[in-house]
Amino acid sequence: MGRAYKVVILGGGVAAGYAALEFVKHGINRGDLCIISAESVPPYERPALSKGFLLPEGAVRLPAFHTCVGVGEERLTPKWYKEHGIELVLGTEIVAADLTRKTLLTAAMETISFQILIIATGARVLRLEEFGVTRADAQNIYYLRDVNDATKLLEAMILLKGGKAVVIGGGYIGMECAAALVTNGVPVTMVFPESHCMARLFTPQIATFYEDYYTSKGVVFIKGTVMSAFESNQNGKVAAVILKDGTRLPADLVVVGVGIRANTTLFEGQLVIEKGGIKVNGKMRTSNSSVYAVGDVAAFPLKMYGDVRRLEHVDHARKSAAHAVQAIMTPEKTSDYDYLPYFYSRVFTLSWQFFGDNVGDCIYFGDSTKGKFGAYWIDKCRVVGAFLEGGSKDEYSALALVARQRPITEDTEALAGQGIKFALSLPETSVSSSIVGSMRRDQSYLLSQPTMQVTAGVILAVAIGLSAYWYVRRRRWRTL
Ligand SMILES: Cc1cc2nc3c(=O)[nH]c(=O)nc-3n(C[C@H](O)[C@H](O)[C@H](O)COP(=O)(O)OP(=O)(O)OC[C@H]3O[C@@H](n4cnc5c(N)ncnc54)[C@H](O)[C@@H]3O)c2cc1C
Repeated sequence: MGRAYKVVILGGGVAAGYAALEFVKHGINRGDLCIISAESVPPYERPALSKGFLLPEGAVRLPAFHTCVGVGEERLTPKWYKEHGIELVLGTEIVAADLTRKTLLTAAMETISFQILIIATGARVLRLEEFGVTRADAQNIYYLRDVNDATKLLEAMILLKGGKAVVIGGGYIGMECAAALVTNGVPVTMVFPESHCMARLFTPQIATFYEDYYTSKGVVFIKGTVMSAFESNQNGKVAAVILKDGTRLPADLVVVGVGIRANTTLFEGQLVIEKGGIKVNGKMRTSNSSVYAVGDVAAFPLKMYGDVRRLEHVDHARKSAAHAVQAIMTPEKTSDYDYLPYFYSRVFTLSWQFFGDNVGDCIYFGDSTKGKFGAYWIDKCRVVGAFLEGGSKDEYSALALVARQRPITEDTEALAGQGIKFALSLPETSVSSSIVGSMRRDQSYLLSQPTMQVTAGVILAVAIGLSAYWYVRRRRWRTL
């Protein structure tokens, strides 16, 4: 007979750490909670792996970036888990799950049972073998998902005196690893099939700024094509990357960042799967009422946009984890998860943030030659997304508010002229998303009814005023 817990968190990544902290805030009994992770270290802030961890000087190392330092909370070290009576079952892979019996089976054939399960299994990297590339298991091909991968890549970079690197993929991992390699003195060629980097988020104009910056650091871009094969040497290592058109790129080290797949396999056939993830409701509860899913693995209702999405970003991992715990511990007080998409990256000395949705027309502002510029996305006359490079904390907060409120704008020229000032001048009244969003929706409906115009105007003015007062008060004490 194996161990039994009230709550088991399966997965020991970002979401697991933030869930643990939330359980402790709500007060969980010693011995009630267990985290099972294939990794041999407690949860840590995964984004650090492609940033601070790979720096040649002043690099961050565990235990410095255990969760939840990413948002300025307490750092959850092994000692913290012990002090709070949370069991860490590390270095343990779960190979089967039986949700009817409420049991998990470890690779060592131990059965662990639960009353409530939180699935926080994140995602795994897509490997080139899955695209039919042969010899893709050579020693000097690197992927980056966990601290072991990052350690191997770091060691290879340090040893690579005078060698060349090829980075395959132009998304987050590709861009951040290329920057790290260059910072470590390694010349880099990037290859990706899209016409510009970060194609899922950036417009060509935004991408040009980053590509030019990378080029100035010596990075060579080969866009709009894919690799077709690896050429190996006698030691079985990759010696060159061969592109579809036959171009040969000498390589001593290859980094691959071609996407990830959510770790859903254990639950297929037992839970509803949608958009490549485990489908949850606004409480992060799956189709089984004792099972929750959070972070990269969850396909959740994005309330603001009325659709279901799966997001592979750390902010959502943190917030969805906390939300699931609130729904478990204080269901009566927990409303539906109302997430504002937020993505960021830091490369070289650059740093950008994006909030909202990148749909519709893009209106640019600022001066990229001065390193500070941004963009608003306008869909159906509303500002739905906002991006800024080189902003301050206040400016990013203002952009978040814009994306939350989705203010109406008809004069895009004026918007471009105002730039970040548009965001900064939005009244704080604009309050929390759902309130403003629904108020504005109600407002436009009401005001379309002629007889309702005056009354509705008065009622709404009072309501907005009260909400603004409530929100400003709330913001004062709320920690970020
Ligand atoms: C290098 C890197 C840089 C990133 N940078 C950024 C960034 O700048 N900005 C941003 O927004 N996002 C970034 N991300 C994405 C962000 O880290 C993820 O969105 C976040 O980690 C998701 O958290 P999670 O807990 O859902 O999954 P993860 O953090 O991936 O954790 C999943 C955990 O589950 C474990 N697990 C899976 N299956 C099993 C099993 N069967 N048995 C036991 N354990 C299992 C894994 O070992 C892992 O510990 C980055 C990701 C990486 C890899």
